[in-house]
Amino acid sequence: MNSKTAMVIVGAGVAGTAAAMALREGGCGSPVILIGNEAMLPYERPPLSKAIISDETVPEPKLLIAPERLAELEIDYLGGRTVKWIDRAAHTVALSNGAQLAYTRLLLTTGARPRQLSVPVAPGSRIATLRTYADALAIRRVIGPGCEVVVIGGGFIGLEVAASAVSRGASVSVLEAGTRLLTRAVPARIAELIRGKHERSGVRIETSAIVERIDAKDGRSEIVLADGRTHIADLVVVGIGAVPNTELARAAGLTVDNGIVVDETLATPDPDIFAAGDCCSFPHRLYGERVRLEVWRNAQRQGVAAAGNMLGASQPYEDVPWFWSDQYDETLQIAGLCREQDVAVVRNLGAKGRLFFYLAADRRLISACGFGSLSAVAKEIRFAEMMIGRRLAPDAEALADPTVSIKSLLI
Ligand code: FAD
Ligand code: NAP
Repeated sequence: MNSKTAMVIVGAGVAGTAAAMALREGGCGSPVILIGNEAMLPYERPPLSKAIISDETVPEPKLLIAPERLAELEIDYLGGRTVKWIDRAAHTVALSNGAQLAYTRLLLTTGARPRQLSVPVAPGSRIATLRTYADALAIRRVIGPGCEVVVIGGGFIGLEVAASAVSRGASVSVLEAGTRLLTRAVPARIAELIRGKHERSGVRIETSAIVERIDAKDGRSEIVLADGRTHIADLVVVGIGAVPNTELARAAGLTVDNGIVVDETLATPDPDIFAAGDCCSFPHRLYGERVRLEVWRNAQRQGVAAAGNMLGASQPYEDVPWFWSDQYDETLQIAGLCREQDVAVVRNLGAKGRLFFYLAADRRLISACGFGSLSAVAKEIRFAEMMIGRRLAPDAEALADPTVSIKSLLI
């Protein structure tokens, strides 16, 4: 392998793997080297909090690329290796096994890691975070009928794990420090609907629950809150947010500010280094601000876009943000960035769910959220996403009226 002309990608999550494939599919003739510090083949994270925990039998990881396809595309996958250092002047990266690789263009898709609790925890406490397949297996091993699970953090990890654990017969409490669930990215009215769904399914939810310490008690954990409330748990799952993996970029002298700072083509100020996915902060044209997203589709599409730009396309990345979260038999889908200051228009779909459309002061559709059955929500949010991308200002009354098709407003 002549690595002197290689395209090197650091981080083999969805962004890195999508980029490797897109480089080849975009006609890249140089070696493509994908380096990941997890030993297994690149896999999907979304099932980790859902099927991997809730299914009766242990599901295999869902691979992002089959080994045959890796070989066919001649992608050199170096698993179980960490990139320790970038020498920008020499255009090389140093690996944990002592190897050095030269790059012509480098892509950083280093993702994010779970934020850790910063309170005293008694030794031997069974505390889990969730980011990897191994983490998910460790959680599912403990969960089952009669098991008391306390989830700290009422965000996506917390609520998806709560739904999965309840479906396996565990007794679950969610402790959220804020005054409501899903403070990041989900408007209060939808968070309330989701809370109702969890409570009806038997999950106990406490907000304004500030964890002070975790003690050991009779072989179990006792979670002590600042106001004196206590909870006993066989397993504590901590889902209090994610921290972008930016240390490598920072040590290389790249700008880091809530993520690796890139321009709208996903290039860092070093024209030979790009970043994509959960680790990167990029300017979003639609919203006129810099954002860092922690959602699957953004990582996948940014990987593809970065690959194109590494090959010289110079195309701005301006996709409308979109993500989903499945909990029980319902789905949450959000297109655009939800901001509390926007005006909400509600479309009631009865037992099938609810759609919320958010309009800016100039009546432009800024974001749309749906919570309910997949069949009722997915198509409408897709049309809303198209409206957001086209900067349309649909009529508010029509948006609220379930007899008007959302597609018909796409003009
Ligand atoms: P990552 O997936 O974090 O991959 C980065 C990889 O790089 C990791 O393997 C990391 O270990 C490796 N790495 C870091 N530094 C180095 C280094 N120096 N050398 C080598 N390797 C390195 N999003 C949704 O939209 N919907 C969902 O339902 C959903 N569910 C989720 C459920 C879970 C449990 C989790 C954890 C996330 C979920 N997400 C979901 C978010 C989505 O999975 C992430 O946004 C996406 O995985 C980010 O991809 P990425 O490639 O940017 O980073
Ligand atoms: P998250 O969605 O940011 O939610 C963390 C929640 O924990 C927030 O509500 C936060 O409140 C709260 N919190 C913070 N510190 C706390 C404390 N000490 N005690 C109690 N609550 C506390 O993060 P996450 O759920 O941990 O998810 C981690 C990553 O996985 C994210 O990147 C997320 O996008 C990804 N993920 C995504 C999905 C999805 O999109 N469907 C599913 C699972 C995971 P404040 O906001 O007030 O700090």
